[in-house]
Amino acid sequence: MPHLLQTYDPLHVTFTEGEGLWLTDDKQQRYLDAISGIGVTLLGHNHPEWVEQAKIQAGKLVHVSNMYQIPEKSQLAQKLCQLAHMDKVFFANSGSEANETAIKLARLYGNRQHITNPTIIVFENAFHGRTLATLSASGHRQVQAGFEPLSSGFIRVPFGDINALKQIAQSRHDVVALMIEPIQGAGGIHIASNSFLQEVRHLCNDHHWLLISDEIQTGVGRTGKFLCVEHAGIQADVVTLAKGLANGIAIGACLTKGIANELFTPDKHGSTLGGNPFACAMALKTLEIIEKENLMQNAALQGDLLLKSLNERLGHHPQVKSVRGKGLMLAVECKQPCKPVVKIALKHGLLINVPQPHIIRLLPPLVIQPKEIEQIVNKLEISLDEFAKLQSN
Ligand code: PMP
Repeated sequence: MPHLLQTYDPLHVTFTEGEGLWLTDDKQQRYLDAISGIGVTLLGHNHPEWVEQAKIQAGKLVHVSNMYQIPEKSQLAQKLCQLAHMDKVFFANSGSEANETAIKLARLYGNRQHITNPTIIVFENAFHGRTLATLSASGHRQVQAGFEPLSSGFIRVPFGDINALKQIAQSRHDVVALMIEPIQGAGGIHIASNSFLQEVRHLCNDHHWLLISDEIQTGVGRTGKFLCVEHAGIQADVVTLAKGLANGIAIGACLTKGIANELFTPDKHGSTLGGNPFACAMALKTLEIIEKENLMQNAALQGDLLLKSLNERLGHHPQVKSVRGKGLMLAVECKQPCKPVVKIALKHGLLINVPQPHIIRLLPPLVIQPKEIEQIVNKLEISLDEFAKLQSN
């Protein structure tokens, strides 16, 4: 790949077709997709109704500028607000852009109150994206290193540490927002407890901080509810979505509620491609199929089954330290660095990913069924057995 900048080191496999949870490569080998293009293809590959809509919309209208009325955009905004219990939406093209939007909103909120250096609380181990502001908000040194100077205006605390937050509340007057992934995804599937999220909500209320929930990986039904914060019975002031929202067509969304609704005014923010008719029509169709096929309920049900099955079959495996997850966002934590398992699993026809040295991450499509769960667990067990053998040699 002489003409590609080296931002990725891809595996030597080329997929040519997909059907449901299965991908086929150029040598006609089949693979079970337990990662969904990193949490994107919620409906699986090649969903017939979704494909039909893509053909219809591509033949009708793909792009007009936000300078004109876009009914698909308005309809999608209405649908998202209904599903997420939010008020308003800005559309972008990716998760990073959706989070940039949220960060800009928080700064506007602070600057309106004449707070010098408005600061956003973020967490250790967080991942919010690759743009300069979002990588500065992220808690992974490897995504930041070499890109200094980082964006200022972030303060970092350990994930789940309510006392650290309380201390900040007492000692600082420049905090305007708190940004959190309810489950840290790239960080290795660390699940914020419901009580922590509830305490965070209280703290944000008491100190007038905007609560920004980054639901780019957890949202759109992955954990069994439309938003992950619903499990804790709380609402955020700002929610960001992307990844699976249009099942693989580029889109990002920043949703607001209450005080966050009126911060932007014309010309304060924008996007050439964000909110285009094609992406919005495909997101609308994705949401329609998720509702029609009860895929959020399926995510909850099959997620429980997958977690149970992983625990039963792998909980005592010599390589495995623990298994955890919520809905269809799961991790098998290994006792030692497990990157080689990715290639071993690929050989056995299973797609997984290792976002942190000891963590195998599973993000299967929401359409998964019990027979596929069994196959995923079988293939993972075989792969871990092979990995164990390699380690002992
Ligand atoms: N936030 C979270 C929680 C994510 O998981 C990701 C992507 N892994 C992003 C933000 C960035 O999204 P994108 O890659 O679409 O810019």
